[in-house]
Amino acid sequence: MHHPMLSRACVGVAAALATLAAMPAVTADAPAGVTALQCGHLIDTAAGKLLGESTVVIDGGRVREVVSGKSTPAGAKIIDLSTQTCMPGLIDAHTHLTDETSRTAYVDKFHWNLADYVIRSTVYARRTLLAGFTTVRNLGDMQNESAALRDAINAGVVPGPRIFTAGKAIGSTGGHADPSNGMRQDLMKDLGPTDGIINGPEDAVKAVREHYKLGDDVIKIMPSGGVMDEGASGDNSQLTLEEIRAVVSTAHDYGFTVAAHAHGAEAIRRAVLGGVDSIEHGTFMDAEDMKLMVEHGTYYVPTIIAGDFVAQKAKIPGYYPPQVAAKAAAIGPLIQATAGRAYKAHVKIAFGTDAAVYPHGENAHEFELMVGAGIPPMYALQAATLNAATLLRKDKELGTLGSGKIADVVAVPGNPLEDISVMKQVSFVMKDGVVYKLNSTPTPLPY
Ligand SMILES: [Zn+2]
Repeated sequence: MHHPMLSRACVGVAAALATLAAMPAVTADAPAGVTALQCGHLIDTAAGKLLGESTVVIDGGRVREVVSGKSTPAGAKIIDLSTQTCMPGLIDAHTHLTDETSRTAYVDKFHWNLADYVIRSTVYARRTLLAGFTTVRNLGDMQNESAALRDAINAGVVPGPRIFTAGKAIGSTGGHADPSNGMRQDLMKDLGPTDGIINGPEDAVKAVREHYKLGDDVIKIMPSGGVMDEGASGDNSQLTLEEIRAVVSTAHDYGFTVAAHAHGAEAIRRAVLGGVDSIEHGTFMDAEDMKLMVEHGTYYVPTIIAGDFVAQKAKIPGYYPPQVAAKAAAIGPLIQATAGRAYKAHVKIAFGTDAAVYPHGENAHEFELMVGAGIPPMYALQAATLNAATLLRKDKELGTLGSGKIADVVAVPGNPLEDISVMKQVSFVMKDGVVYKLNSTPTPLPY
């Protein structure tokens, strides 16, 4: 909030202060004073219950208390959400905020500099926040640029979700994390651990330490092939058990959790045995994998929407390179059924979408696909709040609403337990006590 004041100093202190008071804050600084959100209904994600009329009392950037019924605390600013259902801010445990799908994405790689991606990422971040996602786990970028986006958002320079980033994903030569896959030979590079490419446990240790040095928050590894790179297989095993163990033990030394991209059953098995915290996509997960995940407490982050989107786009000639289109058509349609089977097998599920593979801001469509897979609506909402917060090891502050929690609150019109599609119509967004969307309208930026 300092820049507007400085720039308007010439119009006089009183006028500047008046302007300042009228402007909704976009900075990370929480507004002073108490705000009462009078909600028609409230989703209690800890209890898994839909409550009736409730008031969420916010003091600065934290929840002071959640009161049953309509409460009007003395001196509080009142926000009327009496026709809305409130819930904790949503968490997407799998995004790529510095990239986005398009028909030209594979060619753009040869024309765009990192700055071209980063400028666009500020737009993707705002879209994500306005869709109700106040926190994301960003699982892979190019050159750690998502950490810069994270820091700019935290400093109040641009609006966006709270980001926990993995920086660049870690994988093996020619694997899903190798950016020179599919290029002509003179452009292919022999990359090493400082670029996130490992071959052997020693490289694995170094790659994790490199991420610590760069200030990342989590670690992402690629134990199997993937759909969007130009390698031949979407599901083969691309890391050894020893490499995975080396990543995980080093990561845990530094307090990082580890997310594992894995489509193939064997790659999933190795990742779970290697001690990762979550399996991403998990397409060909078999009964043995599911049993192991339950035993190890490993989370599953399905990203059904990404599978759905790529399967549709694979039908459009030229949208993807041929190798990618073939893998998208084979793998994409299978994820929804896997998610349904995993839920039935009592595998813990956290909400994640692989945003960038489909356009940013459409994240909430994942709720419909989860419910379509046979996952109850309340569980889907818990997956995007309590479970995702627990996976991030931030459940003391995020994912539920109660005294002392971070003031991230969103609201939707209607009852998502009866009609999950209302999750696509988020009408109110508060993050850190700051309102970014009110009455379905983004609040104006202070610049
Ligand atoms: Zn991804």
